[in-house]
Amino acid sequence: MSAKQNILGVTRDDLTDFFTQHGGSAFHAKEVMEAVYRNEQRDFSKITAITERYRALLEEHFTIALPKIVKVQGSEDTTRKYLFQLEDGRYIESVLIPATPLEDGTRSERMTVCVSSQVGCAYGCKFCASGLDGLTRNLTSAEIISQLVAIREHSGRHITNVVFMGMGEPLANFKNLNPALDIITGHWGLHLAPRSVTVSTSGLVPMIRKLAERENQVSLAISLHGATNEVRDKIMPVNAKWDVDELFDALHYFASTNNQRITLEYILIKGINDDLEQARILAEKAKKLGGFVNLIPYNTVEGLEWERPSDAHCKLFRDTVKGLGVMTTMRLEKGHDIDAACGQLRLKEMKKTAAEA
Ligand code: SAH
Ligand code: SF4
Repeated sequence: MSAKQNILGVTRDDLTDFFTQHGGSAFHAKEVMEAVYRNEQRDFSKITAITERYRALLEEHFTIALPKIVKVQGSEDTTRKYLFQLEDGRYIESVLIPATPLEDGTRSERMTVCVSSQVGCAYGCKFCASGLDGLTRNLTSAEIISQLVAIREHSGRHITNVVFMGMGEPLANFKNLNPALDIITGHWGLHLAPRSVTVSTSGLVPMIRKLAERENQVSLAISLHGATNEVRDKIMPVNAKWDVDELFDALHYFASTNNQRITLEYILIKGINDDLEQARILAEKAKKLGGFVNLIPYNTVEGLEWERPSDAHCKLFRDTVKGLGVMTTMRLEKGHDIDAACGQLRLKEMKKTAAEA
């Protein structure tokens, strides 16, 4: 691997420091950021807004590297799944999700990308494909940003929303997540509204507090999947470290610093967490928090025995939560389960590679 740094992981402040140390100034950083993000310039030698000397300096210290696109699944106007290969040969995946058409047939402009934050995951939730082999490594800030840049270039779409719901636990990689969030939301960077960027976590309590203290506040989603310790303990080992009460204390703290509603993600797994008593407790907690609930009928994972409840039961669960006055969404459409759950495309590719070896 080259010793040069991928510029896609560098914030404007850091680039300013770099130029200042080399006789330049904030002006140079501003021009370079504009060339890279606004003009999609991929060749430093063509950034004519700065002089030859600074172009040479850039080439000496930086690269602009995008991950290799191994596979794209799905088509225009539908959810498109990208499998990427990183410089060290590891696979990660990201998903481009256009807004579903509104009832009158029109489409909103919303174009969401779901990104990965790690290769694998250390948290080992029992239902999840990403955690099956544990954590391999953190993604660098550049590897996080380059998923967005690569998808923007490949699809030609303007990205309006980003969710950290791909592989990995973003809050376990806070040191690289934090600058990546600056680059995504910076007006000099990808320039997304902070509230359109959502970090999803399985419940790393101290890091939720840290995220709350960020200057540019992003939105938060919690993979709750159980409304009580009894249920959560069965499926999410992280609950042994920070239980439901500690988690909700941190969520109330987050809510007090941020006026965005927190999303409570709740996968429905047959016979595990789909009891209507859970729906009632979930609704009560969501209401107190002023959050909303997103119900996700479980996507089966090859090799795991979990199943999704019947559509009728999912609806009943939803109506129970809704009936208690909580904003609730649930998507039941099919096709969503074509490798839709995070980590599954990568799993397939790894199995294929192993079979071919
Ligand atoms: N580690 C973070 C970010 C990953 S988000 C987190 O857990 O929040 C990935 C989301 O997909 C999580 O809400 C996770 O619980 C959910 N998920 C994992 N496996 C799934 C499956 N088989 N079906 C539906 N959702 C799943
Ligand atoms: Fe990791 Fe999130 Fe999957 Fe749990 S749900 S194993 S935290 S990626």
